[in-house]
Amino acid sequence: MAEISAIEWTDATVNFWWGCTNVSPGCDNCYAETWNAFRGTGEWGPGAARRPIKGSAALLRKLQSSAPAFESLHGRPRRVFMQSLSDTFDNEVEDVWRMAVFSGIEAADRIRVQLLTKRIGNVEKMVLDTWRNGGWPRHVGLMITVVNQREASRDIPKLIALKKRLGIPWIGLSIEPMLEPIDISKWAADLDWIIVGGESGKNARPMHPAWVAQVQQACQRAGTAFFFKQWGEWLPEGEAPFETFAELRRKRAERVELHADPNPFASVRFDTRTMYRAGKKTSGKLLNGSVSQAFPKELAA
Ligand code: SF4
Repeated sequence: MAEISAIEWTDATVNFWWGCTNVSPGCDNCYAETWNAFRGTGEWGPGAARRPIKGSAALLRKLQSSAPAFESLHGRPRRVFMQSLSDTFDNEVEDVWRMAVFSGIEAADRIRVQLLTKRIGNVEKMVLDTWRNGGWPRHVGLMITVVNQREASRDIPKLIALKKRLGIPWIGLSIEPMLEPIDISKWAADLDWIIVGGESGKNARPMHPAWVAQVQQACQRAGTAFFFKQWGEWLPEGEAPFETFAELRRKRAERVELHADPNPFASVRFDTRTMYRAGKKTSGKLLNGSVSQAFPKELAA
């Protein structure tokens, strides 16, 4: 929980509790779970009690009261990512905890709230009655995480339907970690924002640049805001200056060959790229030599 966040697409994070259950291949290397395992307090998995975090309601009030100062300094409202250490729509959390989140959010109408979930099927039944019946707050957007085509095809239509039914002001995808090519072209025009990012850490899985390009091009055609967060642990050959790769080779950095088409039975394995284990900092966030980090209009002004 932080008044200032290192996550590029937000300004602050607020967490009302700690703990979750893995529900997707995107959870395999969940940083919050890794941290939880390190602490040894055991708030992860089915049946594990989640741990409330003190001071979250007070932090939301503080972000609200300091909103005018933030806006005059930055020329835009503050973006706040709710629940970076859990999922607001986790079935194992008592409704009374969730109600505290929604009431706190409702009162903080000078900030722009970014709700992110991997449990889109729970959203409508779990939000406040007023949100469900035409009163969804204008300062709250909803995002889902999808990491493969199966999740995209299953969950994006639900998200778009929810936006229309509940009048959600903006919706988006977090494709992080991107684990395979995902064709989002038929939904891109109905989405306001798409974030793409590679995975970090010891067990990170590499992301092929062709997969990123496919999403970026779909966003360009549809006029959807596209945000490339980072490459993560693995840097594709050609996506950094020559000297960077010379240094990685000199240090004998681990390499893997990654095919654009992950299907092992494909007759032709086109666009094979060498991926270097460069680490998140060296890999950076340049895509074709530039930073592509756009926000939807509701978060930009
Ligand atoms: S849903 Fe999010 S917080 Fe929960 S285990 Fe998966 S990645 Fe971690």
